[in-house]
Amino acid sequence: MDRRKFLVGAGMGLIAAAAPISLSAAGDPIRKVAKTGRLNLSFFPYELKLRHAFNLARYSRTTTPDVQVQLEYDGVVGYGEASMPPYLGESVESVTKFLSSLDLTQFNDPFQIEDILTYVDSVAPNNRAAKASVDIALHDLLGKIMGQPWYKIWGYNAEKTPVTSFTIGIDEEKVVRQKVEEARPYKLIKVKMGLDKDQETINIIREMMPDVPICVDVNQGWNSKEHALEMCHWLNERNCLFVEQPFDKTWIDETAWLRERSPLPIIADEAFQRLPDIVRFKGVYDGINIKLMKSTGLYEAHKMVTLARALDMKVMIGCMTETSCAVTAAANLSPVVDFADLDGNLLIANDRFDGMTVENGKITLHDRPGLGIIPIPGL
Ligand code: MG
Repeated sequence: MDRRKFLVGAGMGLIAAAAPISLSAAGDPIRKVAKTGRLNLSFFPYELKLRHAFNLARYSRTTTPDVQVQLEYDGVVGYGEASMPPYLGESVESVTKFLSSLDLTQFNDPFQIEDILTYVDSVAPNNRAAKASVDIALHDLLGKIMGQPWYKIWGYNAEKTPVTSFTIGIDEEKVVRQKVEEARPYKLIKVKMGLDKDQETINIIREMMPDVPICVDVNQGWNSKEHALEMCHWLNERNCLFVEQPFDKTWIDETAWLRERSPLPIIADEAFQRLPDIVRFKGVYDGINIKLMKSTGLYEAHKMVTLARALDMKVMIGCMTETSCAVTAAANLSPVVDFADLDGNLLIANDRFDGMTVENGKITLHDRPGLGIIPIPGL
């Protein structure tokens, strides 16, 4: 088959599966799309309802504010999402204000990702979740136009997805036991720490699940170097894999001190937001927890994975409480990360999308184009 025939054939098959795009006489679907359309952005608030109250070292909540986004181009729709846990400083108001200020109709070629997202980033500082919502929708749109899922576009092997952790929050013993029961299908348990019940929680899990590896997220909750080091040794003896964000994000010297001495890797979460932070944290943390709501989306997150790996740092991909839209977006990066914490969609009761699944604890990606999600009718 010659190259031209291959492109036409491949394009037709992919487009038929993906979206109502007509082929030009030349049979070049991508160029045809780029000539005719405009990017149209729409969005609406959508409150995420949590299955259990979410208790962290510094606060508790039962809902998460969220804004659902659609980016339409020539009849093809990409989906995105901004999730705003309150501690990140964004709200439905700030996200809708930011999105209302964008004029994406100025772009008539959705493949100019660099130009489009540089513009989005330049409109206002911060607003990282709002920016991520546009980036995620753009990736979904482009993947659908190309007829391929993003993990394939990046050249990743879907067989190499990691297991995902299942999170157990800080809670009363009865609730912890109930959560451990729920966690049985998972191969990695993530435990929230930083209050006075740290050892008690680990002991309950070890009694109920003696062998499953545990990772620990302190959410900045420890305030003594010596206590943290003692806990790292104690956790190391109980099959713990790493400790996430042990101290306040401003405690750089203290974190480097702990990292020098800890038998467990120390991973940055709250301290780490954008791409330039990675270089600053080499030698302070062993690795980074990338989340799309911090990184402004997939475009920068993909660069973060590459940079962190080049610096020999561990890479974790995480999420906020989100629908399967943003969680599946992040899962497309998971074949090349060391750890995944992608259970945010499982923590909510009103997910709007069918997306990546967890089979025997392992992230399982679909072969659908774009992010690999489809909306659930009626939600
Ligand atoms: Mg964390």
